[in-house]
Amino acid sequence: MIAVSKTFKEQDILPLLDYGHRDFGENKVQEALLKWPNLKEKYKNVKLHMLGKLQTNKAKFAVEIFDYIHSLDNLKLANKLANEIHNKNKKIKIFIQINLGGEEQKSGIAPNDLEMFYKSCLSLKLNVVGTMCIPPEGQDPKLFFKDLLILNNKIKLSEISMGMTNDYLDALEYKSTFLRIGTGIFGKRTN
Ligand SMILES: *Cc1c(COP(=O)(O)O)cnc(C)c1O
Repeated sequence: MIAVSKTFKEQDILPLLDYGHRDFGENKVQEALLKWPNLKEKYKNVKLHMLGKLQTNKAKFAVEIFDYIHSLDNLKLANKLANEIHNKNKKIKIFIQINLGGEEQKSGIAPNDLEMFYKSCLSLKLNVVGTMCIPPEGQDPKLFFKDLLILNNKIKLSEISMGMTNDYLDALEYKSTFLRIGTGIFGKRTN
């Protein structure tokens, strides 16, 4: 379970760290760079997960602080990440984000393009461990979780990043391996 700490401050995060929780999620590179270097220094083996849209020009900074990137959604970014990861000799685990609902405003690879995109990632030697989705609002998330499970099996990846505060039980039914829980842990976000 990833505790999604975006918008929350160090004082809100510390109790979880002291309790022993180690997986945390953020959706902005800049915010992560402000909050996490010190915490990662103090609490060894924290795993930080990038969950939000990643601009290519921020890939360099993302690679410095994150251990997982859940939002790989285009080839230009894949190229840039591969360069940065190999130059800095990092071991970052990557999820390909899939736009299952075909929503224009959401990023992600179209389901039909997944196999080809995955092959490109392999040739760039990216360590792709799974797929990720954010289901469209107002529809039954199970339909999308089911689709992601099928897609994930098709390319034989072992990890699935799906399920948030409101739908994590459904996500578990379809074999999610990474739940991303924010509100359910930290309470409502005010900004
Ligand atoms: C904010 C966020 C979450 C957590 O959402 P909650 O509804 O607060 O649990 C999960 N995944 C992504 C990609 C997010 O941006």
